[in-house]
Amino acid sequence: MSLIDSHCHFDFDAFAPDRDAVWGRCRAAGIDKLILPGVSIAQWRSLFALVGSEPDWYGAVGVHPWWAADLAVSVARLQQAIVERVTKERAGSGRVVAVGECGLDKSIATSLADQEAVLRPQLAAACELELPVIVHCVKAHSEILALLKVFRPARGGVIHAFSGSAEIAREYWKLGFRLGIGGTITYERAAKTRRTVSEVPLESLLLESDAPDMPHAGRQGERNSPEYLPAVAETVAQLRGIPVEQVCAQTRENTQVLFNL
Ligand code: ZN
Repeated sequence: MSLIDSHCHFDFDAFAPDRDAVWGRCRAAGIDKLILPGVSIAQWRSLFALVGSEPDWYGAVGVHPWWAADLAVSVARLQQAIVERVTKERAGSGRVVAVGECGLDKSIATSLADQEAVLRPQLAAACELELPVIVHCVKAHSEILALLKVFRPARGGVIHAFSGSAEIAREYWKLGFRLGIGGTITYERAAKTRRTVSEVPLESLLLESDAPDMPHAGRQGERNSPEYLPAVAETVAQLRGIPVEQVCAQTRENTQVLFNL
C-alpha cells in the first residue's frame, strides 16, 4: 500500500512530543507524503520551516475560517500577503502546492460575511498564482459553489472533509474540485457520505486524515494520526466493492495530479 495524506495538520502542537516517531510509523504503513495546510498568517513561517525539514512534506498558504477573526493584516492586504509568501516558498523549498485551507463554516461564531471577506482574496490569490485551493466547508455548500462559479480557479482544488450528497459532489467535480475523504466514512451512521463515496468517480477522491482532528470509529477521543490512513482506503474499497490496491493507486494519482507533486 502506498498512500498520500492530502490533508494533515502535522505542524500542530499535538504532534510535538513524537512527530518523528509518528512519521516513522507512517512510512512503515505506506504513507509516504503529507500535505500540510496553512491556517493563519502567524503559522506560515513555522509551517514552512517544518515542511523544509523533510523532502516528502508539502505546504499550503491560507487562512482557515476558524482563524479568520484574528487576521493579522487587513482583508485588502490578504491576497498580496499570500502571493508574497508563496513566491518566497517557491524560491525556498519549492514545496508550496496550494492556497488554503480556506472556506466557510456555519458552525462557528464568526459571521458568514466576515468569513467570506477573508475567503474571497484567497480565491483571487489561487487564480493569480495558478494554484489549487484547499476548501473547508461546513454546512455552506451552496455559498461555496456560488463563489467557485464566480472565481473559477483554473487548477480546481479539493473540498476537504467532504460530507454531503452525490449531487453536490458532482457539482464540485464539474468545477474541477475533488473530494477529500477521511475518517468520517468509518462511521456507519455517516450513511449519506458513505453512499456518495460509493457512487462518485474514483478519479474525484483524495484520501486525508485531517489529523489531529477527525478520529476514526473506535478511536473517539484519541488524537487522529496520518498513520491510520490505510483504514480510510480500506473503507472506500469496501463501499465501492473494489480492491484496496485500486483505491490506493487511483487516489494517489489524483493527489499527485491535483497538487502537481
Ligand atoms: Zn484542516
